[in-house]
Amino acid sequence: TLSSSSAASDVYKRQLESILIAAPTGIGMVIDRVFQWSNEKLSQITGYTAEELRDRDSRILYPSDEEYDRVGNEKYAQIRETGTGTIVTKWKRKGGKIIDVLLSSTPLNQLDFAQGVIFTALDITDSVRAEKEILEKNKALEDALTVKTEFLSMVSHELRTPLVPILGYAEVLLEGGLGELPVEAVRPVQAIKDRAEDLARLIDDLLLLSRLERGKIKIDIKPMSIFEHLHEIIVDYESVDHDKPAEIEWIGDDFDIMVDHTRFHQVMRNLIDNSFKYSLESVNIMIKTKKEGKFGVISISDNGIGISETDLPKVFDRFYQAEPIDTRSHQGAGLGLSITKELIEMMGGTIGVESEVGKGSTFTIKLPLA
Ligand code: ADP
Repeated sequence: TLSSSSAASDVYKRQLESILIAAPTGIGMVIDRVFQWSNEKLSQITGYTAEELRDRDSRILYPSDEEYDRVGNEKYAQIRETGTGTIVTKWKRKGGKIIDVLLSSTPLNQLDFAQGVIFTALDITDSVRAEKEILEKNKALEDALTVKTEFLSMVSHELRTPLVPILGYAEVLLEGGLGELPVEAVRPVQAIKDRAEDLARLIDDLLLLSRLERGKIKIDIKPMSIFEHLHEIIVDYESVDHDKPAEIEWIGDDFDIMVDHTRFHQVMRNLIDNSFKYSLESVNIMIKTKKEGKFGVISISDNGIGISETDLPKVFDRFYQAEPIDTRSHQGAGLGLSITKELIEMMGGTIGVESEVGKGSTFTIKLPLA
């Protein structure tokens, strides 16, 4: 029974005791290191019956004297500060099995710790183990990710190197640097050069992606006039021959946005290139610009094949490519838009898309105004 107080009524004492005995938490009372009383749950946790614990030194539950002393010191330091001490410790069950326990102790008399403590104990072995397993799994995942990123970067470098002479010699051959090419050789050599360029672009995308993943990309944000930029891009596109009739138009406000000029250029080219790739007979691109609060909004619309509702949420995912609508193959690996999105976000902006199959697509970028 609990220590008697002549003031408390017997009924009250018995009620309190039965609550403590039936509590779903281990509860015990220790005076001067010696067990006075414990409940049923504590017996389940420790393997000792209440009779076995009674009058025993509380060290019996500890795997070592060091652990016992550590718990004692920490407990009293906490009690002095807050009135109770809560500590995670190891206990040794009857039979020797080591378990993890969450202990919470309160002195019976706040002024005199020597009068003993009443404590609650929870067996947290399972949750400690589960937590450890989760941490180990996270670590393994992180390691695997690092290996993947390093592999990507290594492979990309190794693939890029042999492309340099392939591209170089193809160009020399085409320009007649090794003598006039036989007519029937022009197309094959041109094909070598074109495909090698595709491959170089793909490898550059992979390299950029691995650098983005490793946080190795530095951006240099400066004000940029959207007018000058679009003018330059449109002139660029108009100065080369395309395999289908193409028109790019721009209407809207001129304003300065805060961007990394090179990266923004890359983003715009990727979006416009996509409009070319995914328009069949002819290309009609409309670029609109407007200010919206603190942002400059730039939208690029085409009247190409469009993107289906199921594909739409995934086009910014890595390596994602929609089911091809026609049999013509489009070069690319589904990396362009994921890189575009990361670059835009690095510059403090957002990108979204709206589309309707057969009607066309509109990509909308928002970036901070200067
Ligand atoms: P890639 O063009 O190399 O396949 P992207 O990441 O640039 O990769 O684009 C992902 C996918 O989104 C494309 O495969 C295509 O299905 C779709 N897509 C992107 N831009 C357009 C567009 N302007 N019109 C229609 N579909 C598009």
